Amino acid sequence: MHQYPAVAYSCRYYMPCLKQLAAFTTLIPHHCHRHYPRPHLSTLPLSPNFHLPANLNRLLTGNSLFYRMERFWSGSNINKNKEMVEHLRHYGVITSKKTAEVMETIDRALFVPDGTPPYVDSPMAIGYNATISAPHMHAMCLQLLEENLKPGMHALDVGSGTGYLTACFAVMVGPQGRAVGVEHIPELVNSSIKNIEKSAAAPLLKDGSLAVHVGDGRQGWPEFAPYDAIHVGAAAAEIPQALIDQLKPGGRMVIPVGNIFQDLKVIDKNSDGSISVRSETSVRYVPLTSRDAQLQGS
Ligand code: SAH
Repeated sequence: MHQYPAVAYSCRYYMPCLKQLAAFTTLIPHHCHRHYPRPHLSTLPLSPNFHLPANLNRLLTGNSLFYRMERFWSGSNINKNKEMVEHLRHYGVITSKKTAEVMETIDRALFVPDGTPPYVDSPMAIGYNATISAPHMHAMCLQLLEENLKPGMHALDVGSGTGYLTACFAVMVGPQGRAVGVEHIPELVNSSIKNIEKSAAAPLLKDGSLAVHVGDGRQGWPEFAPYDAIHVGAAAAEIPQALIDQLKPGGRMVIPVGNIFQDLKVIDKNSDGSISVRSETSVRYVPLTSRDAQLQGS
């Protein structure tokens, strides 16, 4: 049985709960150890910005025990940013102190649209056929990039959407560093700037070490290249050469690659300029594409 990878979601961290759930559901294949998707999402043909409200989800699963487990495990009863971070630590998603600290510093609630539950471990629609990634995906990417987000370093966030990760990067690289977001939907750039202004990263926006630009992220942002860290928040059919070129030797890029089935790739540029590529996990992100294609949903 094949499982859809969930939306910007990789669930190996939830294995302990899934093992318990396996007693109640036949949806979980026993051979799939690395990429266990959450059953309620994974069994549906997903559109990237599709999110079931909790109550509808309950009706669809029709299993109140399952519903309680689901609430317990996705954190939908969490109403504080610190609790969300604790929850992710508890499940072994966050293992690094720095990532926990920055995710505590930047409150996710300031970045999700009004009326959206901010701390549920799920991607949420933000309009324009885009989503804010699930908290555990943000945590995973921050951890993968952590060594390349030290004070003074340069970080590029392609497809910066809500600005959440750009703000996290800015806090990590500090006022001596550079955090650059590139997003091709001007409305999202404007709202991300408003979000950041309300957050703990506001002084960095003011002093210019954090900036978000309207642009085609496939071209990167040459002005502040080369980058120690590049994060791409949308799935590329192929790794854009401009991004590889803008990566510093010793730098790291994290990018989802693929169409419907995607891998989160970790690309390290070696000191001789060669690159090493590995796959971290299966994911599902919105596509890295042209603005028109995205707005038409194609
Ligand atoms: N990390 C962001 C993810 C947003 S979803 C967050 O968690 O908020 C991916 C984003 O990539 C969308 O906002 C989409 O508009 C943007 N995007 C897609 N293709 C792009 C391109 N070619 N250039 C710039 N941004 C792009």
